[in-house]
Amino acid sequence: MSSDTNEDLRLQVLRRYDILDTAPEETFDRLTRIVAAALRVPIAAVTLVDDHRQWFKSRIGLAATETPRSASFCAHTMLEHGAMVVTDATQDLRFDSNPLVVGDPHIRFYAGYPVVSSDGAALGAVCAIDTAPRDISQQELGLLKDLAALVNEQLELRRLASIDGLTGALRRKTFFDMCERELLLGRRSKSASSCLMIDADHFKSINDQYGHDVGDQVLKALVDTLKSGLRATDIVGRLGGEEFGIFLPCTDLAGCVDVAERLRGMVEGLAIATARVPVTISMGAAEAMSGEDVLSVFHRADTALLNAKRSGRNRIVTDSISDTRAAM
Ligand code: GH3
Ligand code: MG
Ligand code: MG
Repeated sequence: MSSDTNEDLRLQVLRRYDILDTAPEETFDRLTRIVAAALRVPIAAVTLVDDHRQWFKSRIGLAATETPRSASFCAHTMLEHGAMVVTDATQDLRFDSNPLVVGDPHIRFYAGYPVVSSDGAALGAVCAIDTAPRDISQQELGLLKDLAALVNEQLELRRLASIDGLTGALRRKTFFDMCERELLLGRRSKSASSCLMIDADHFKSINDQYGHDVGDQVLKALVDTLKSGLRATDIVGRLGGEEFGIFLPCTDLAGCVDVAERLRGMVEGLAIATARVPVTISMGAAEAMSGEDVLSVFHRADTALLNAKRSGRNRIVTDSISDTRAAM
């Protein structure tokens, strides 16, 4: 694999945790306080290394919330298999002209341990920094290692809490938070955003006929199928038992209906591994209007979904307001 592909994958994994630019949190601040106290250093941080910057999820003794990646010690640490220790940065060719060494905060000592995701992607580091040269003991290195593992566990727990265990779709709150953010981003770049409300047809009779376990498998296969027919930037959420929402950035109503029609066909043709269970979906589609919040767009799509159910199921109905606008 080329290093570019590795870096793309790494960034994809990092983005999955949805942590960059979030507010400070006690869970992470506690870890930097432990580093500073245990190693008796004035500076400690939990860093995450983005495309062109290192961003501090937690920091003590540093004013900036981020620095360029090119000046980052942790970007080096992240690529190590173990700790990286620099006892005197002025004596290290990699760092002697680094702006954080030559200027504020005048780093001399640095020790960091990589934060690595469960699937092996380097995300950042936990680090201890001093303004005078010094050494570090094995015991202190062990502490950094443990804390780096805790950072990863914390990231993983947060991610799991935002994902529905059965289907892998986002849970309601995370889903709407992410949609809202995408909606605002789209508005800023003057591109259309659309959404779909989806409900599995006659799902009660699937449970009744095949059993709840098969019903569960159908729901899982349904979401897998939806995802396979969508772009990586589209957002899929489970909003109820057999009810799902999809947010489509950079997509107008006509594009949204095309996507929906494709998904409808894919689901209709879906073969479940264990048994061929016929399942279809009904969908309501709506395009966001200027200034409208995400709940309101989904509410309109939900009304359209109701009409799709009433008019026979296994079909897509567009919201009447979106329709009127599209006709103008
Ligand atoms: P309609 O076409 O009108 O949507 O009919 P429906 O039977 O799908 O609608 P209804 O709301 O009557 O029933 C939804 C069913 O979905 C009932 C419920 O047991 C089932 N369901 C909800 N969540 C799950 C789940 O996690 N697993 C399984 N197996 N079934 C679920
Ligand atoms: Mg249903
Ligand atoms: Mg339902």
